[in-house]
Amino acid sequence: MVWFSMFCLLKILPTHENFLSVGYQIITELFDVVIGDVILAMLSNGPNPPTPHRSRPISNEHLKSINDLSDIGKFKETLEPILVPRIVGTPNHEKVRNYIVDEMKRLNWSVELDTFDDKTPNFGTKTFHNIIAKLNPNAKSFLTLACHYDSKYIKDVEFVGAIDSAVPCAMLLHMAERLNGYFESSKTSDLSLMFVFFDGEEAFQEWGPEDSIYGARHLASRWNSENFFQK
Ligand SMILES: [Zn+2]
Repeated sequence: MVWFSMFCLLKILPTHENFLSVGYQIITELFDVVIGDVILAMLSNGPNPPTPHRSRPISNEHLKSINDLSDIGKFKETLEPILVPRIVGTPNHEKVRNYIVDEMKRLNWSVELDTFDDKTPNFGTKTFHNIIAKLNPNAKSFLTLACHYDSKYIKDVEFVGAIDSAVPCAMLLHMAERLNGYFESSKTSDLSLMFVFFDGEEAFQEWGPEDSIYGARHLASRWNSENFFQK
């Protein structure tokens, strides 16, 4: 619903600046109130939480302190390197991938590339790389947040894909940075955090079951064959 509201607002405010600032405001609201709340409630239970996990309510003061962690200046800095056309297989796509990997490693997350080939309808076989970052790679359960980092190929158009998908990627990186101090216990607990930056979400020609969400389909099938969901 938040995404739907965002699209409505963006249609009303189509300029680049408005596009980013309105998107950012809604995203920070989503981040602060929903995601930050869920993550901090989860982490406030400390290491090795019981199963099933129960969250704890957060006081208004605590919520305000989470709100105050957001920093639009730093967010824009984080966003800048991602805000370029980044079609799968292009040099920009590789640069953005390396940037995300380097940032997550700098914050001491365990980072894995899930690399695979798949056929596209109009560009032959392409190599894709999902980026999987975990706070504690040995945890038994994860709260997983995901976005995708590729941008869409549109013939003769330079499509940046700001709201879809540079901003969500920057949002996860910004969150990892700003909440880093809260994550200590999740580096060793059985319940931890995982971020997935999917590749190849966009269709190369026309959205369909075999031309879209290349990264998500591959990872779902891999995890299924590895019995990941049963663990
Ligand atoms: Zn997309």
